[in-house]
Amino acid sequence: MSIILTKPSHPETLGPAPTSHDQKAPVTEASGQPRIISRQEHRIQPRHVSANAIKVVERLQQGGHAAFIVGGSIRDLLLGQQPKDFDVATSATPEQVRELFRNARLIGRRFRLAHVRFGREIIEVATFRGGGEEESEHREIEEGGRVLRDNVFGSEQEDACRRDFTVNALMYDPIKETIRDHVGGYEDVMARRLRLIGDPVTRYREDPVRLLRAVRFMVKLDLAIEPQTAGPMVALAPLLVDIPPARLFDEILKLFLSGHAWPTFQALVRQDLWAQLFPGLFEDPSAPPPLVEQALKNTDQRVAEGLPVTPGFLFAAFLWPKVRERSARLIDAGQAPVEALAEAGEDAIVEQARRVAIHRRYSGMAKEIWCLQPRFENRRGKRVNRLMNERRFRAAYDFLLLRVLEEPELEELARWWTDIQVVDGEQRGQMLEGQESGRRRRRRRPRKRKSGV
Ligand code: ATP
Ligand code: MG
Repeated sequence: MSIILTKPSHPETLGPAPTSHDQKAPVTEASGQPRIISRQEHRIQPRHVSANAIKVVERLQQGGHAAFIVGGSIRDLLLGQQPKDFDVATSATPEQVRELFRNARLIGRRFRLAHVRFGREIIEVATFRGGGEEESEHREIEEGGRVLRDNVFGSEQEDACRRDFTVNALMYDPIKETIRDHVGGYEDVMARRLRLIGDPVTRYREDPVRLLRAVRFMVKLDLAIEPQTAGPMVALAPLLVDIPPARLFDEILKLFLSGHAWPTFQALVRQDLWAQLFPGLFEDPSAPPPLVEQALKNTDQRVAEGLPVTPGFLFAAFLWPKVRERSARLIDAGQAPVEALAEAGEDAIVEQARRVAIHRRYSGMAKEIWCLQPRFENRRGKRVNRLMNERRFRAAYDFLLLRVLEEPELEELARWWTDIQVVDGEQRGQMLEGQESGRRRRRRRPRKRKSGV
């Protein structure tokens, strides 16, 4: 990493150097004076900070360790948003953390962390980590620069510098009520600027998921990306090919289910990242199919209204153009619609899962949504009730409404299904009756023709 490390400071908060059998002590002594931002300046109100996180920091500090609240929560507080969770970074080793907290559990293989549980709230406590330039038995770098393993303890300053963006590297001492800034993150938050720590190309190469994180923070927090951080993004987008599909799935959930799915999609397309994640789905991703655009906008609307959202529905929308085209070909070749959709759907999912792992639960949901579509066309008596009792009926109905955007001939059908869900018993009887008599009328004609032959 091209991060400049300077001389140690603030011994009162640095605590003893961590040691462990399988995790290495700091590569370099902490150096460099962080900028200290006082309460008068940052104006973080302690009542907005998790009382449990404060308790954890207090106990660690009393035990002689350095400890701060770090990462996204401090950034969010400065931006006036309520953080989802609070993480703590400390000079104490995981074992020392466990000794101090009865309610702590050690987790993680790649880098061990302590989870300190308070009822439903979990405070994640991580030992300061270093980046370190050299390869060692604790740090493995592949040819392209990607860091495969980096379980190396570090100093406070190294811990700040190994983080991705400056705005994510602020450390808050809730006892002194000061922010400690090693990377110029405070100024960047105030200017609403997203900037990678260190040399952007190196940092993206170390971990290409940072390309996606850049888009996520830019959109979610409405930050302007600094030109040097934005510069290499398009050229480095192909590096995502090496990221394990399961990790991409986790990232995709955060990208699309946090209430900014549509602007996130547009930003991913602009940075050429969309095509890395979902190759070959749309002819021109900058003008996605109307159904996809609306599915993304509806997701954001639901998040804004506090309604549940599921990646299953979004995957159903993303893959639909492909599924629709392939199933149409199978139907033309004589296959029954539901089977054609199941087969085309399975193929599309298997293909997509090579890039982004789709959890079984969600691919199953997407398949159900697709396969229920032909059943909307059958509006006779018992079948109507049976369809309405399907557990994916609501999702499939929402999907039908989206299909109208691309297949206007479905409008009457969609309206009928909208009405049947809200009318009273008598009107419902009439609606079903209408379908029955329509069917009788439709049936009689071919018979007449037959008899005329
Ligand atoms: P969110 O509010 O979306 O959770 P966050 O900043 O808390 O945002 P997390 O993924 O929870 O993001 O990560 C916590 C912290 O860990 C980050 O703030 C950042 O300092 C560090 N971090 C996470 N992922 C990376 C990464 N890929 N490279 C470097 N640092 C990272
Ligand atoms: Mg977080």
